[in-house]
Amino acid sequence: MLFIDGSWLYHVRPFLMNLDGRPEFELDYKALPLLVKGHLMQQTEGPVDLVRTYYFGMTAVNKPGHDNVRERQFYEMLNKRCQYHTEVYEFDFRSRENGRRENCLEVGLTSMAMLHAMQPGTFDVACILAGDNDYQPMLRQIRALGKRTQLVAVKGDNGFYPTHPRMLEDSNLFDFPPVFLDEHLDRLQYHRSESLRTCDSCGKEELTTFTSDWFYCRSCREEYRSMKSRQQAQES
Ligand SMILES: [Zn+2]
Repeated sequence: MLFIDGSWLYHVRPFLMNLDGRPEFELDYKALPLLVKGHLMQQTEGPVDLVRTYYFGMTAVNKPGHDNVRERQFYEMLNKRCQYHTEVYEFDFRSRENGRRENCLEVGLTSMAMLHAMQPGTFDVACILAGDNDYQPMLRQIRALGKRTQLVAVKGDNGFYPTHPRMLEDSNLFDFPPVFLDEHLDRLQYHRSESLRTCDSCGKEELTTFTSDWFYCRSCREEYRSMKSRQQAQES
């Protein structure tokens, strides 16, 4: 079973894009679980059944001038195109203004991984795509239950090392060597294809790379945006 800390992955994506001068790099979320599965098959020298991919993500609420359409589209793409199970938590901007810290994502990932680790026969190996040292206690407990663990990490370069060194050095945390995303960019590159789609609002056809179930053409999207900003200007 694969557990993805979406907030960490979001944070390292720009680094992957800049690596080897790949301004065109776009992560293929469908290829990601396959890469992890292939790595495990090599390590265990046997068949691997990837039971499920969990993606833990955030969505901003009460953020002035922000609408969540892109986030919704992204999570829908993970669900429908990539068959991920998504758990999305609200990140309330008001609580940040009040100086409160919210860790729903980390706690959510940890509780889900622990829950499954305790259910007999659910998984043998927990693959964790994350970089924070905060996951250490969880990893120790999963291993204490007799399950094995594997890290999906980013090696980093030029002063950017997003995987906490202790996650890489502590040999009591993992049962296999880590998979480094930055070593497999060719396999993780998403190849976008354009297709002609009909706008759900005005019925016009337009060439697009959007893959979501619903589709709005460029002019409908612009109209919606300017309507939104007029509304916000009236409210404030
Ligand atoms: Zn339209």
